[in-house]
Amino acid sequence: MLRQYELLEKIRAYDPDADEAMINRAYVFSMKAHGSQKRASGDPYYSHPIEVAGILTDLHLDDETIVTAILHDTIEDTVATPEEVERLFGPNVARLVDGVTKLSKIEAQSESQRAAENLRKFLLAMSGDIRVLLVKLADRLHNMRTLHFIGSEEKRRRIARETMDIYAPLAERIGMYEFMTEMQTLAFREVEPDAYASISKRLEQLHKGGGDDLIERIGRGLTAHLEASGIEAEVQGRQKHPFSIWRKMAERHVSFEQLSDVMAFRAVVDNVEDCYRTLGIIHQRWPMVPGRFKDFISTPKRNGYRSLHTTIIHDENMRIEIQIRTKGMHAQAEHGLAAHWAYKEGREAAEAEHPWINDLIEILEHAGSPEELLEHTRMAMYQDRIFAFTPKGELIQLPKGATPVDFAYAVHTDLGDQTVGAKVNGRVMPLRTPLDNGDQVEILVSKAQHPQPAWLSFVVTGKARAKIRRFVKSKEREETVALGKKIFDEIVERLPAPLGWEAIAEALKRLNLHDDEALMEAIALKRVDDVAVMEALMPGSALKKGVKPPPQRQAISIKGLTPGVAFQLATCCHPIPGDRIVGLRREGEGIEVHTIGCDQLADGIDADWVDLAWGDESDGGAARLCVVIKNEPGSLAVIAGILGSHGANIVGMEQVSRDGSFHTFNLDIEVHDLQHLMRILAALRATDVVSTAERL
Ligand code: MN
Repeated sequence: MLRQYELLEKIRAYDPDADEAMINRAYVFSMKAHGSQKRASGDPYYSHPIEVAGILTDLHLDDETIVTAILHDTIEDTVATPEEVERLFGPNVARLVDGVTKLSKIEAQSESQRAAENLRKFLLAMSGDIRVLLVKLADRLHNMRTLHFIGSEEKRRRIARETMDIYAPLAERIGMYEFMTEMQTLAFREVEPDAYASISKRLEQLHKGGGDDLIERIGRGLTAHLEASGIEAEVQGRQKHPFSIWRKMAERHVSFEQLSDVMAFRAVVDNVEDCYRTLGIIHQRWPMVPGRFKDFISTPKRNGYRSLHTTIIHDENMRIEIQIRTKGMHAQAEHGLAAHWAYKEGREAAEAEHPWINDLIEILEHAGSPEELLEHTRMAMYQDRIFAFTPKGELIQLPKGATPVDFAYAVHTDLGDQTVGAKVNGRVMPLRTPLDNGDQVEILVSKAQHPQPAWLSFVVTGKARAKIRRFVKSKEREETVALGKKIFDEIVERLPAPLGWEAIAEALKRLNLHDDEALMEAIALKRVDDVAVMEALMPGSALKKGVKPPPQRQAISIKGLTPGVAFQLATCCHPIPGDRIVGLRREGEGIEVHTIGCDQLADGIDADWVDLAWGDESDGGAARLCVVIKNEPGSLAVIAGILGSHGANIVGMEQVSRDGSFHTFNLDIEVHDLQHLMRILAALRATDVVSTAERL
């Protein structure tokens, strides 16, 4: 347990001007207020606020923050009043204590939805002073350190889960990686005890295998190598934390053996120049792993983090990660904003260097619902989050793997619906590109655009998925009804007499359908057949003689199109099922479907090309043939006979040329598919009246 004089010594070491009298007053006030209250550990309660204050002295925080930490539980848990606190410690401390107290009330409510709502209100209220958040995080950290004293497993789990979901992400967001890591490690042990135990055991085995301590040995080697090259570096080695190892295993679906980088080293050097020199020296000595090098010095992370990151294959044939940074960067990386708080004056200075504080406030102000905020603050166990920016600098938070389409829907539903393209950091990129942290995304829109079913294969947010699905579904119904109407019109034409509207109302009753649309849908989906519809419209009509035979229907479906988007089979190449096809889309027009070999595609450079395939059920199409036949009586009859015997209908014929011995015809014939056409062409070529038969 931290003693009063020890706490004072810690503060004095970095802040000789601290108000020691106020700190002593706070110590006595807190001790008296908590009286004989005890912690689950059996320690007197007041040891807890003192320990919290101690954690904050490690961050070199100012005396007001330290006093707030000492007093942080007095309002909530004792008879002390805010007025007393204000009278004894001044308005600043009173305001800070009030802030922490409000946040503590949230902890009492276990239901996550309400917790998030209150958290939001609280964070808004405290956004004027980030020190409240620092005290709260230190409070939570100490509670996590003493979590194992709590008897109830259920309570331990709830607290650990809450830490994982809300507090560790908050610590990360403000760059306090040390807090974050410790919270995650402690929470992970509670939430996933088996995973924690097995990973810890594997780590132990790994180190035993190398004889003496592997990390130390590699670290010594690194130091010596840098020294020989004239760089003085403080090299620290560490094993990655069980939670981060576990998260990597879960994210990348790899086993412990495949996960090679379980060790990380850090070289702290004097200045930026040495950072790059160190990098060069290391890369010359050991091969680097491609794709793992990151320069956060020239491009700092959004929260201000700076370092060089690389991964090398070390002598031990192990991949190890190395971070290279200066002392200043190191202090900031460990303590984030707190480092700035300690070294700079006031919030303005910090804010000027940390635009993300404004972003944080903005997120809180714009989160519409408690669920949405929870989604913002919650860090799922398996996935991290990324931040991307609109051209105006508005911050959009998304799950990892999110694409420009997710981004667009996160900004606004209309924007998502009208997305046709995206510029990421100024470059046009495919819509399926996963976004990176810090990307600036500009969505290109068209009023004529609709959500595309193909997007469903790559969007990751629930919002985007739901909006696309809803649109596709409504379009599908629209199209189904339209198709039903077409078939219905054909059926009506085959009736022996004209039809009145009463007949349809009667038919609906007979078929037990409630409206026209339902009838059209039933027809399209073949829930009722033609005969039943005819009988319902005009009883006895289906049996009458002289009823026209059903026309040949083309059941064309094409994959890759939005249901309901108009398409037409091009008349230049007459695609039929089985052909490889591609779509051309020009603004304001439907899609034109061509065969992949069509000459007209050369004119389609200005259009969007759409990758298409025939639907499984596709059947029927008109193919144009060029047939050269002998000029002799009966030739045409032979051709007609062959086509007839193959079940192909001639729908058009044109004599292109004739000379003494040969006639050339263009024939349009209806066939089922490409195979059907090939058989017909072969049969034509086999007869002696045909000189050549080709598809045009
Ligand atoms: Mn507390």
